[in-house]
Amino acid sequence: MNIGFIGLGNMGRGMASNLLTYCQTHQHQLLVLDLNQSAMDELVGQGATAANDAQTMAQQADILFTSLPSAREIGELAVGEQGLLENLKSGAVWFETSTNDLAAWQALIDQAPSDLLMVDAPVTGGAEGAAAGTLTMLLGIEPTLFEQHQEMLASFTNKAVRMGPSGAGYVSKLCQLHLNYLVAQGIGETLMLGARADLDLGTLYQVLQKSCAQSYVVDNYIPKVLDGSYDPSFALGLANKDMRLITELAAHLKVPTKLADTVYADYQEAVARFGSDAPHLKIVQMLEDEVGVSLPSSLAKHDK
Ligand code: NAD
Repeated sequence: MNIGFIGLGNMGRGMASNLLTYCQTHQHQLLVLDLNQSAMDELVGQGATAANDAQTMAQQADILFTSLPSAREIGELAVGEQGLLENLKSGAVWFETSTNDLAAWQALIDQAPSDLLMVDAPVTGGAEGAAAGTLTMLLGIEPTLFEQHQEMLASFTNKAVRMGPSGAGYVSKLCQLHLNYLVAQGIGETLMLGARADLDLGTLYQVLQKSCAQSYVVDNYIPKVLDGSYDPSFALGLANKDMRLITELAAHLKVPTKLADTVYADYQEAVARFGSDAPHLKIVQMLEDEVGVSLPSSLAKHDK
């Protein structure tokens, strides 16, 4: 069997690498494709086969995975004579793992041949989870198809969960992200309160981890603010895209989301100030700039 993987970025690189181990033990071939040659070289060095382009990959793949920035790149690869919809084999399964726009995905499903199986399968757990094979995958999929592919999905995830029929995976991912960003935004305010009151932020961090405020965001994001790296494994532009998708979903479902609307406005401002490629936790630096206090420097002051 041939398995294809398009998009070897922060997430795709780790997923494809773990999937490759599964392919090697099951005599499957893993075909990879990315615009970035060094990402391709890394996977080919591990034993994957480089595909020349999306069309040839689609013609060969029985199963396809994609991990791409947004609906725009997914759409560009999918449509047209040389696109995935036109060239994927009859009966092929496309697991789309990006954080994607539900309406854009549905529009692709509407254009696709009826014998192409398209599954929304976004993931959560970050680049470190992708590398470690500990991601959670949220699938919009029919039960039988899910059962058929569970072993393969388990090779690069800790948990693959069927959330419901087509679309349920993307919606679940946006629900998860909604809370993630509200908390991520909150850690800046929490740390700033501590910094202005001259608390030792290292001790405050340890206490938060053992308190009812503990969460993945607290555990993993606070150190990346305090060390001044702001977490380059996820781009600010992608966070802004996520907040846009969340607020659009809320408008579609007629759910008032006062908190998310405020957070989205801040992400838009952060992208305008720092650029799309900046690390996503630069959102916290907006408050640092406003108050005139650097959180990494506040930590260092107490280290002395
Ligand atoms: P990334 O920008 O690091 O990777 C995207 C990759 O796609 C890049 O390597 C890029 O070269 C490649 N690409 C773009 N257009 C292409 C094309 N036409 N053909 C071939 N390759 C192409 O992004 P990422 O952080 O890996 O995120 C990927 C997706 O997963 C996004 O939708 C993101 O929102 C989502 N996501 C990211 C994280 C995270 O922590 N990084 C976590 C969960 C979900």
